[in-house]
Amino acid sequence: MSVLPIVTYDDEVLRKEAKPVEENTPEIQQLIDNMFDTMYNSDGVGLAAPQIGELHRIFVADAGPLTEEEGGRKYGPLALINPKITFESEEKVDMEEGCLSIPGVNASVTRPEKIVVNYLDRDFNKQELEVDGWLARVIQHEADHLDGILFLDHLSMFKRKLLSSKLKKIDEGSVEIDYPIVPKKQKAK
Ligand SMILES: [Zn+2]
Repeated sequence: MSVLPIVTYDDEVLRKEAKPVEENTPEIQQLIDNMFDTMYNSDGVGLAAPQIGELHRIFVADAGPLTEEEGGRKYGPLALINPKITFESEEKVDMEEGCLSIPGVNASVTRPEKIVVNYLDRDFNKQELEVDGWLARVIQHEADHLDGILFLDHLSMFKRKLLSSKLKKIDEGSVEIDYPIVPKKQKAK
């Protein structure tokens, strides 16, 4: 098991659509183990495979610390393979989001309060989960990553503009981050 470096904001891999997982292989199991290690090492509550440069439709989540705060039902660590959100409530809520790939940036995002998600667990068993609160939020954020969508995309132009100087700092690699990230590629001048 190992902690892998996380790709940041302007990396094009974060904008690509991840591919469905066809088969349960030792490589996929290893990847999931590494994703949990990487998520816990960076104190994250969710991590999608594209964030470590792997374009597979997998994410891990552990909203435990957040649901405790919320007084809600507790879920253990979850690995979701080929997740599909099959229901979104009409009722929407604002919640503050951040992202391990966009360090130091937080913003309030409006999303459905309750969802149903269908997925394969790490033993390749079909599962269905109906959730609200923080876990619903984490699942929606991570599922977006599998389609190349970042939480910033849900913000108004105005809000994004307010964050632009912070985003520029990430682009320049001048943000202090206390977990390993993929080093910036040399940009053509
Ligand atoms: Zn994220």
